[in-house]
This record gives sequence, structure tokens and C-alpha cells, in this order.
Amino acid sequence: MKITYYGTAAGEGWPCIFCGCELCEEARRLGGKNIRTRSQSLINSDLLLDFPPDNLLHANLYGLDFRKVDYLFVTHAHSDHFYAEDLEIIREPYTHERFRPLKVYGPENVGRHIDLLVPDPGDRDPRYIYERAYAFKPVTVGDYEVVPLIAKHDRKQECFIYIVRSLKEDKTVLYCHDTGSLPENTVEYILQYSHKFDLVSLDCTQGVKKDGNNHMGYEDAKLEKQRLIDLGVCKPSCIFVLNHFSHNGKLLHDQLVEMAKKDDMIVSYDGLEVSF
Ligand SMILES: [Zn+2]
Ligand SMILES: [Zn+2]
Ligand SMILES: [Zn+2]
Repeated sequence: MKITYYGTAAGEGWPCIFCGCELCEEARRLGGKNIRTRSQSLINSDLLLDFPPDNLLHANLYGLDFRKVDYLFVTHAHSDHFYAEDLEIIREPYTHERFRPLKVYGPENVGRHIDLLVPDPGDRDPRYIYERAYAFKPVTVGDYEVVPLIAKHDRKQECFIYIVRSLKEDKTVLYCHDTGSLPENTVEYILQYSHKFDLVSLDCTQGVKKDGNNHMGYEDAKLEKQRLIDLGVCKPSCIFVLNHFSHNGKLLHDQLVEMAKKDDMIVSYDGLEVSF
């Protein structure tokens, strides 16, 4: 199984287009792994997690091949995770030679965004199909089982994190963006889930700051990692990745790597591939 991180920033991106703060200036000066776009990851080549306004950039500069993507799971309808307008370019005359539908799953507000864009379902191109996902109800698509779990994030809308399990490869990922410390009902579900995790991707938006309510800081992510290990839900070889960073967290890529090395965690950057 492989996960590729295409976008590893929080909503404002890093550097943020309007921002002149020290952290954005430093990212502009250093470039490289400090340049972060909005949230998107790919499992193998066919299952996409989130659909931000940087889709085009991820395709044309980073090589994300949307022609191979069959399934899209959206965590929540914040603008850095779901840009519904890009679904509309799957229709003629913008897209030719695409015959398979893109199946889109996500919480209720993702469906609402699509409704606002194309109010009459009859006007929608059959090459994308939205189905509402429900918390704790597994969805089987192709060779995957995907389970939406409740995130601790925006209290005004449903937000998910996902378990993505490859049935063919017998590998399981827990993808936790955007969320604070995992809520109790999610932990309960994880405890009774019959497969242990091979990779856990943890939110680290707040960097040096402590949070746990809407996002995690470095220390929150570290605690969450230890909690999952103590609960016995991770394989001994489980890989922990920190992802979703903000200038407000105040840690540039190399500083994050230095900290995470001690705690046996990987720091994501745009283009990172992890095979396991
Ligand atoms: Zn986000
Ligand atoms: Zn800034
Ligand atoms: Zn969010």
C-alpha cells in the first residue's frame, strides 16, 4: 500500500498568499519542503482523500493522475478540503475520454455544496456520483473498505476522519485530518475494529501550541500516538506521519523533522510517498 501526500498545509497554505509573517517569509526564502499546498492525499493510485482548490496544481506540477482515480473520500466541506467547482470539469467539453464515474463520498455538507453548484441532480454529469457517507458505516469500494469516523473539528457541520483498508493487501491506514484529540465514540469504534493500523496520519496544525479541540499541536499528536499504541490498535511496525501544517504552528519543515525524529514520527511534505 502507498500513500502520497500532495497537499500538506492548513487552509491558508504556506506561505499564505497575503501573509507577511516571519514564518511565511522564511518559507518563501527557503522554498523546498516549506512550500505547502492545501490538503490532499492519494492511496495507491485510485483512492483520493480530499479535493482542495489545489487539484490542478497537484496534477500538473506534482503528477497526481486524476485519470486513475475512481474513489474520492472527502473529510469535510471546509474550503481547503473540498472545492466542489472542480467536479464540474469532469463533463464535456472540458473532459474527453473519461468513461468511468468518479464516486464521491463525504459528510452531509459535501452533498450540500454539490447541490448549491448544480441544484437539479438531472443536470449533473453522470461521470461523478456523490453518495453521502455516514459515521461508523463502512463503505466497500473496489479493493477497499473505508470507515468514516467522527472528527473533533467544526461543531457546525459533520467532519470525518477515515479508516482506509486495502482488502487485497491487508493493510490499514487511519487518516486523521482535521481533528483534535479523537472523540470517545471514534475511539470506541477503533477498539472494536478487527484490524490494526499499519500507518496513522496525525493532524499537526498547531505546531508548538497545544490544542486538541479542533486540531492538534505537536504535543497533542504525540499524546494521540501514545494513546493508540497503548490501546493496542497499531501494529508494532506502524508508521506515524504528522501532516496539515500552518504558519501559526511556527515550525518550519526542518524544525519539525528534528523534533519528530526523537519521537519516531515522519513529517509530511508536498510529494512525500510512504510505502508500507
Ligand atoms: Zn484543513
Ligand atoms: Zn504567515
Ligand atoms: Zn477543517
